[in-house]
Amino acid sequence: MKNISKIVVLWAMVLLVTLGGCSQPSPIKALIVSGQNNHNWQVSHQAIQQILDNSGLFVTDIALTPAAGGDMNSFHPRFADYDVVVLDYNGDRWTEQTDQAFVDYVQNGGGLIIYHAADNAFAGWEEFNRIIALGGWEGRNEQSGPYCYLENGELVLDHRPGNGGSHGQQREYTMHGRNIEHPITQGLPTNWMHAQDEMYDSMRGPANIKHLLYSGLADTATGGSGREEPLVFTVDYGKARISHIMLGHAGATLEENPAMQCTGFQTLLLRSAEWAATGKVTQPVPHDFPTEETLSLRKDYGKSK
Ligand code: ZN
Repeated sequence: MKNISKIVVLWAMVLLVTLGGCSQPSPIKALIVSGQNNHNWQVSHQAIQQILDNSGLFVTDIALTPAAGGDMNSFHPRFADYDVVVLDYNGDRWTEQTDQAFVDYVQNGGGLIIYHAADNAFAGWEEFNRIIALGGWEGRNEQSGPYCYLENGELVLDHRPGNGGSHGQQREYTMHGRNIEHPITQGLPTNWMHAQDEMYDSMRGPANIKHLLYSGLADTATGGSGREEPLVFTVDYGKARISHIMLGHAGATLEENPAMQCTGFQTLLLRSAEWAATGKVTQPVPHDFPTEETLSLRKDYGKSK
């Protein structure tokens, strides 16, 4: 090939790469951590992966711990290689090295999602409790921090003794928007119907909530606390971007999984993951978002959208 032809070919290749780069932004790298849980993690981590991957915005890897009682030395994910980490884990403590790698990732401004029972994990790990702001069960009580709920629309911290973490019977319930100016919630309706799920209540911890996004009323008629409970919020933790989503109790199978099939849950997960990774949300409000009266399910986890 003559030199001039080579230059033309090279120039064309550079142009293609540049144009390709403009039209298709590289996907966000997400890591789902799972492998032990008092929940059906086999279903939940797959549902989360499908929701993220089907959006076209993310490429997802999965890091599974050994089963309970297994050798944690084999579990050392490279958190720092990812833009966002989704915690779907409630089980044995990791190794000191893995704990440190996780804290370093978060403290270096990492993106993190605390999903449902991940806030049950590691009750005795002080730094983890600051990263999640509120947690429940696993022996949590007033020593873990105040019970945080809403009164007249304001968060209050109740230092009286009591256990941390409870929920009534699963039911459909209304989500109450507390901040729909945040990138995660911008444009979403203030009130909308969530599909059948648990509603966590009586959660305790350092309560370093940055922005409360949604709350819900834990109805006493179905065994709840009778209080308005924080359910979706961001955490004030240095330069980290952390979204804590208490929704999404995993069902028996991917097909029977209403809480995670809810379009509202999926939208909060996707918007939280993009915000945690980049600080921005580019996703429009979906046309099939639930309303105050009407549930909306994406049983295929967003595949058809
Ligand atoms: Zn649950």
